[in-house]
Amino acid sequence: MPYLADAQFPKSLMFVSGLELWQWVNQAKTEARSSDIPLAEIDWLLQELAGLDRLALRLESFKDLPKIELKLSLSELAQLWQRRLQERVPVQYLTGVAHWRHFSLKVTPAVLIPRPETELLIDLAVEAVKSYGVNPKSHWVDLGTGSGAIAIGLASALTNARVYAVDCSSEALAVARLNAENLGLESRINFYQGSWWEPLAFLKGRVSGMVSNPPYIPSSTVLTLQPEVLKHEPHLALDGGFDGLECIRHLVETAPDYLESGGVWLVEMMAGQAEAVADMLDSHGSYCDVQIFSDLAGIDRFALAYRL
Ligand code: GLN
Repeated sequence: MPYLADAQFPKSLMFVSGLELWQWVNQAKTEARSSDIPLAEIDWLLQELAGLDRLALRLESFKDLPKIELKLSLSELAQLWQRRLQERVPVQYLTGVAHWRHFSLKVTPAVLIPRPETELLIDLAVEAVKSYGVNPKSHWVDLGTGSGAIAIGLASALTNARVYAVDCSSEALAVARLNAENLGLESRINFYQGSWWEPLAFLKGRVSGMVSNPPYIPSSTVLTLQPEVLKHEPHLALDGGFDGLECIRHLVETAPDYLESGGVWLVEMMAGQAEAVADMLDSHGSYCDVQIFSDLAGIDRFALAYRL
């Protein structure tokens, strides 16, 4: 069965009774427990497809409603859920929606599902602007934009900046563009297809900030990832080469040509990479004030430096 995002479902809305839906939820909970899937995912599915809020789901108050509107029939909902259980398709691909910061983003299997830890990249960029006097008005780039999450986060937080979002996948760029349009940010973000800085030659020496969540997982580790990631998320967005650092190394080497003096270099990385990335930045000779920041789980997750 296709993804809901492919709009293969009937356009007309379907109705079920609260009791019917409640019975389905109970069965789904039992299946989730035995398949080791967080129960919260059933709530995510129903928030998107039945328009129920978290409180109604938590208190099960929807059970008493005579009629609930669904975006698909109950049997289609059950089929989607079976894809979650049997094929291990992430629920965000099934609904076509991921929540990230305060945005609701469209996602398809052409883009990585934006992760909660990545939300902090935007706060770090904003903090750098405030505390280091980085130019908030000029050009900011998101290299490897995927769903467009980082570009959208930057455009929304840095209200005077122009954002340039690059991805080598045209399918990913189509998703990113749509997300920017849906959020009314399309006039602030320019999209380019290409490899890293390649389409941005006209910005040489003028970029105030580069932010990226590049592929950083070592090729051999990709094969050991959980089936949701391994079977369904784009390897192009995950595989960082033999040591996981190929893309980050490329960004360390190429960014100095594009960043203005005092410009920010900011990337996400994997647990265990902080020392290697800090060494690369320190020894390059074009950066200063190299800093490592941890995510909410306490893992060293982000590297930040300034162009000398
Ligand atoms: N954080 C992602 C994961 O854990 C990986 C993202 C990336 O490689 N940039 O699957």
